[in-house]
Amino acid sequence: MPVVILRVMEIIDTHSHLDDPSFANDIVEVLERANQVGVSQCVVPAIQASGWAALRQLCRQYPQLQPAYGLHPMYLSQHREQDLIDLAHWLNTGNPVAVGECGLDFFIPDPDKKRQQYFFEAQLELAHRYRLPVIIHARKAVEQVIQILRQFSGLRGVLHSFSGSKQQAERLIDLGFMMSFGGPASYPNAHRLHRLITWMPIDSLLLETDSPDQPDATHRGERNEPAYLPAILQVISRLKDVPPAQLAEATTRNARRLFNLPPISAR
Ligand code: ZN
Repeated sequence: MPVVILRVMEIIDTHSHLDDPSFANDIVEVLERANQVGVSQCVVPAIQASGWAALRQLCRQYPQLQPAYGLHPMYLSQHREQDLIDLAHWLNTGNPVAVGECGLDFFIPDPDKKRQQYFFEAQLELAHRYRLPVIIHARKAVEQVIQILRQFSGLRGVLHSFSGSKQQAERLIDLGFMMSFGGPASYPNAHRLHRLITWMPIDSLLLETDSPDQPDATHRGERNEPAYLPAILQVISRLKDVPPAQLAEATTRNARRLFNLPPISAR
């Protein structure tokens, strides 16, 4: 009898908050569903210092999860000066694949821009010191982020759920950065985003879900999870007119290159 080998597409969810309390009761099932559709690894970025220990524990328990440690700009009121000192220790000893999630969010009401910038720059310095890529959140602040990144030559990283312009994307690519796209790319009216993705060089593109947030158009109102990543792959594949298998291969290669991901142990 002929043996038919089906090559399962492998994709990587480069931004998934699986340490969120909404996953506490069914993380095993969530990871099983992800595995079944080819999501082989997830990068799990931290949001604040109080979550780092639990995140490390989660990633030790499930080797397909890779941690990033950082201080998210939306949780600025939680961050203390000491967190930056502690972060250096965590980056040194916690086997992270990146620094993050960090960045600037000027969309929130009354943002303390100076303080956000202070924590962002401090984390970029740490990324530089420990030679790690950075996972950047930039909302209504892409221009400011670019200005700051210019002062840190040699840094690499990703702007997650990128929502800037083509011109900004070009400058970020020149600086050595990638951009990741998730649920918003699937919204039928996201014309500007669709044009950007259509143009994006495939070497600079990553896939993400941003679970439990930003579900794709077919899961609106639900808790997002990594198993929904193939929907993003399909959307971007159509926009770019590239076969899904080819896009899966390219984005997986990009993710491995950026985050220097360890090989997946046979499961
Ligand atoms: Zn995030």
